[in-house]
Order: sequence, then C-alpha cells, then structure tokens
Amino acid sequence: MRQQLFFSPTMRDVPSDAEAMSHQLMLRAGLMRQTASGIYSYLPLGLRMIQKIQTIIREEMNAAGAQELLMPAIQPSELWEESGRLGDYGPELMRLNDRHDREFVLGPTHEEVITTLVRDGIASYKRLPVNLYQIQTKYRDERRPRFGLLRGREFIMKDAYSFSVSDDELNETYESMYKTYERIFKRCGLDFRAVKADGGAISGSAGETHEFQALAAIGEDTIAYSDASTFAANIEIAATAAPTDEEIGVEQDLKEISADNLAAAVSGNSIELRNTLFFVDEKPVLVVSKAEDTISDVKLSGHFKTLAVQEASSKEVEALFGVEQAYVGPLHADEGLTIVVDHGLTHVKNATTGANAQGQYVTNVSISRDLADADIVDLRMIKEGDASPDGVGTIQFAQGIEVGQVFKLGTKYSEVLKAEVLDENGRSQPLKMGCYGIGVSRTLAAIIEQHHDENGIVWPQEVTPFDLHLLVLNAKADEQVELSEKLYETLQQDGYDVLYDDRKERAGVKFKDSDLFGLPLRIAVGKRASEGIVEVKERKTGVVHEVHVDELAAFLK
Ligand code: ATP
Ligand code: MG
Ligand code: MG
Ligand code: MG
Repeated sequence: MRQQLFFSPTMRDVPSDAEAMSHQLMLRAGLMRQTASGIYSYLPLGLRMIQKIQTIIREEMNAAGAQELLMPAIQPSELWEESGRLGDYGPELMRLNDRHDREFVLGPTHEEVITTLVRDGIASYKRLPVNLYQIQTKYRDERRPRFGLLRGREFIMKDAYSFSVSDDELNETYESMYKTYERIFKRCGLDFRAVKADGGAISGSAGETHEFQALAAIGEDTIAYSDASTFAANIEIAATAAPTDEEIGVEQDLKEISADNLAAAVSGNSIELRNTLFFVDEKPVLVVSKAEDTISDVKLSGHFKTLAVQEASSKEVEALFGVEQAYVGPLHADEGLTIVVDHGLTHVKNATTGANAQGQYVTNVSISRDLADADIVDLRMIKEGDASPDGVGTIQFAQGIEVGQVFKLGTKYSEVLKAEVLDENGRSQPLKMGCYGIGVSRTLAAIIEQHHDENGIVWPQEVTPFDLHLLVLNAKADEQVELSEKLYETLQQDGYDVLYDDRKERAGVKFKDSDLFGLPLRIAVGKRASEGIVEVKERKTGVVHEVHVDELAAFLK
C-alpha cells in the first residue's frame, strides 16, 4: 500500500477523555475515529488489525470443529420475552420499533436466536454435538462507555454456542474451547490468565465459567492468581477459595461499633474502616470500599445476587440491596474511598467485596443471623503474598481486561425455549449448551495496551497490519525513489505485506509516523541508496542494521 493514498489520518492532540493508552494511540495513528459515544468507525489501518484478529479466531475455531454462521443484529423482542430476558437484561438492551410498531432489540448476545435455530434444525442426538459461531457487531447500551474500544456500545464479538445431549460432550467442548482460547490469545501476543469466574444464577457443573483476562493496569477487573500453581480466579470468587481465618489460625479481626459512633467514624477519615465488619445494635453492617469517589463496579454476590453498583447514591443502594438504611459516601477524601453500610441485613451469605484502595485484597464474608451462637460463620481473606489455596506458590493480584469468556450454560435456554432432541433411548432431552465469547475489538485495544512505548504502537509479529514499513527518505532524490520503487515491487513479490511511505514529507515526519504505526520492521532508503545500502530498524528493540539490497531477502528471513 502506498502511504500517499492510504487513508490513515493521524491526530496530534487527542481529546482529554481518551484516558486509555490504546484509545489515544488508536486515535493518533488513525486506526479509528469516534462517531458517537462508545461507537466507532474503523479506518483502514484499524480494520486490517480487526481482520488479522478475526483470521486467527477463524483458523482456531474451525480447527476445533466449530462452524461459522451469521445471525441478524436485529432480533424480535418476543424472542427475548420467551426466554424471560427482556426485563432481566435491563437498560443495556437497545430497543427499537419498526414502522408497524413491532418491537425489536439490537442483539447484545445471541443465545435466543441460536437456540431456536438449533431447536428447529436438529431433532436427534445423532446430529450432535454441534458448535456454531459468528463474528458480528453487538450492541450494549453501557452505562459508562469508556476507554475507546475497551468498552463500547457497539463492538465486535466472536460468539460461539455449543449444543450436546450429554454432560460429557458439553465438558469436552468446553475443554476444547478453553484450549482454543489459549491458542488464540497467545497468537495475538497477549499476556493473559484464564481465571475462574462467577457463574451467577446457574450453579453446579453447568455454571462453570472462566474469563480470559489480559493483564493491563487499565483493566477494570481485579484477578488473583499464582503463576507457580494453577490457581487463578477473578475477584468475585477468589476469596471463596481461600482458607478461613480459623483454618489458618488467625484471629478474626472484627471491630464492634455502635450506631452512635459509626457516623463519627465514617466522617472521621478513618481508613481503619476499610473492609471491616461492624455491628450496629447487634446487626451486621457491611462495609465495601473501593478506590473511587463513587462506588463503581463493586459486585456483590450471594444474598445480594450478582449486581454491579455504579455511581450509586444511598437511596439507590437501599433499593438495589433491599436494605433499610445505606450510607454511601467518601470515607477518606484523599483516597476517595466509598462505603456501603447496611443496617438491615439479616441473612448475609457470601457477600464478596471488591478490592481495597490499592487493589490488594478481597474479603468474602458469610454471615447467618440464624445461628444463635455466632454472627460470623466464616471470614475469608486473600492478600497479595499469601500462600495459595492449593498450597503452591503465592497469590498475586493484577488488573485484567476481560477479552473472552467460556461458560457452561447447561439447559438454561434450551428449557425455556423448548430446544429438545431425542436421545439414544428415544427420550426427549433439553439440549446442554455452552457459550464462548471473545471481544474482537476489545482484544485489539488490549494488544495495544500491552504492546506500545512512548513513541507509539509496537505490533506483535502475528497481528501486525503490514509486515514491513518501507520509507523513501527523500522523495525528490531519483536514486532513492528508484531503489524504493524496486524494493516495493520485489518485497511484495516475496510475499510481504508492505506499507510504502512514498509521501513527499521530511524524513523526520516519516520516522515519527513509522514509530507511531509500529510495524515490526522499518526499511529506510536514504543517502546510501546509490551504494545499494538500506537501513533496517527493529521497532521493538530499536536495533538498526545496514543491509545491502542484495542481502535483504536473506536478512529478512
Ligand atoms: P464486561 O464484564 O467487561 O462488561 P461481559 O462479561 O459483560 O463484559 P460477555 O457477555 O462475557 O461480556 O461478552 C463476551 C465478550 O465480549 C467479553 O469477554 C468482552 O471481551 C466483550 N465485551 C463485552 N462487553 C463489551 C463492550 N462493551 N465493549 C467491547 N467488548 C465487550
Ligand atoms: Mg458487561
Ligand atoms: Mg464480565
Ligand atoms: Mg463476560
């Protein structure tokens, strides 16, 4: 591709709301542009990247025996009514009406559509198992679209759905998808961990789920893992794997506090309150703290069901948690801690708090007021540096970007949507389903989060938009142009995808843009063109080689 004609408008001053590095670099290098909040246009350079990632996904999914199809983005609301999700999904679901006032939704996910397709298309176990996937645009009216492609309202997802009659088959497909995801994210050059996650309302072996988390400081999830062992879990369930204080012989460090001095403590800038369990009039009080000036994305499970609180006020927290009185406010102005105080809990079980201000620990508190002798049944805590639950290695905490998730759905959708087949014995059985998602556009952003330096993007080899960046340093010098044109031809004949900067810009501008674009190798044709010598620079290391054109082909191999 000749850069003179290549539509890749660079941007010098990125908007101040572009906080994430990947967001800034994608704007600066002209990979994408915002069209509306959380809605982006992919420019040619960005689209090339998306296509590279899609190719890796397709190759690995096909190799695992999955079949590609394409479902509509627009889905009839009745289908969501039938599955019971129309109300449950909440305001993230984008809705629209057609000219006849029929109601539709813009698909945030496709369990309903795929389940009816398989229900109507397969009647016998003999045609199973089957694993179907698509790569498609999804819509979620996120409350806080942010960080560019990391959390969009329109984004590209690969979603796969497997169907089988037996648990064994479901387990096999799940295993195979798990391994496939490992290969995909490795090929994308990502440093990631597969972590156990919360299966929500689905329990048992159906309900098993793992998230694939790319390690990055900007990541919105906190994960706990140990590289020495197989332990890895996201924060919602990490603490449930930890031994109890009693088991490890630590005295429970609980403080009691009265209703009167609670208010004083709360306003008293006391960090001591963090992740501490209090009693007010013998009622347990739950304190949740997070390093934000408002509560955001603190997930509570168990008694509370799993729900995310985002920027909630006291009143909203009371409504959400069904508590009688809630206090939400900054506990310590400098650190912006926020707490929820629940005065009215009667049966708190497995309430899991998020990370503390430094993202260093999680607490899982199980309490039952039914038990006469003790209010606290179980207090578990994991800190960085703790031994792991399986006795090997020590726990590390990290921020992660959820780039993918595999999930054993079991019969959740097949039962309500009546997707059944006849088994070996001629009995009708609801299909056992699994679903497997990858955020394609989010993966692109995650790659950039992990692969950049102060000068721009540094693409990993397998997902680079072009293989080589060829630069003619002085587009007015005949011998430079002549050699560059010749190299542009021969390099392409040799099978390289070449971006050729043939613009009439100064060498400095070309070098800067080349670093920003981040192709693995830059070949600069400059003053020594007359001797047949070019300069090859490795983007990642900055190492420069002077190479004679006769030796270039061998050098590039
Ligand atoms: P999150 O916890 O970040 O909101 P999710 O758990 O709701 O994600 P899933 O329903 O598991 O997302 O969807 C499958 C994949 O789609 C996710 O693992 C993620 O990579 C991607 N994804 C989800 N929401 C978004 C979004 N708003 N923008 C970009 N990618 C997304
Ligand atoms: Mg979500
Ligand atoms: Mg998630
Ligand atoms: Mg998920």
